[in-house]
Amino acid sequence: MELLEPQPSPAAGKEEQELLERAFFSWAEFSRFFDKWCQQRLVVFSVKSSTHVARSPWASAPPLYRLIHVLKYSYVLLVCKDMRAANQPAAWPPQPSCPAFITLKLSPLRDRLVVSECQLTHSHPACTRE
Ligand SMILES: [Zn+2]
Repeated sequence: MELLEPQPSPAAGKEEQELLERAFFSWAEFSRFFDKWCQQRLVVFSVKSSTHVARSPWASAPPLYRLIHVLKYSYVLLVCKDMRAANQPAAWPPQPSCPAFITLKLSPLRDRLVVSECQLTHSHPACTRE
């Protein structure tokens, strides 16, 4: 995976790279990792769209058929839930004001979930939960 644009902040690029190198062998494993990951960064992501593994064209073929309930999703789009936007009147379709997102997908081997794309640069300061 190549970074096409040089990042002004090396830390941001490194964080994205770390996520892109991760693999999760269950949805539960990802959830545990991601909860902690969000807490450490004081960010809140929510699932914007997802596709169940059962809907995958490979759902009945090995190795995936054994993993339907373990992996749960073949595609998940997580977007930053910018807390400031929650206080504004809701627009439809929702216009996320923050460009940060993470895409989780079934790996080409179809036995794990991997982060296929992510953008972790937020357009706002971190949320404080106090
Ligand atoms: Zn954000």
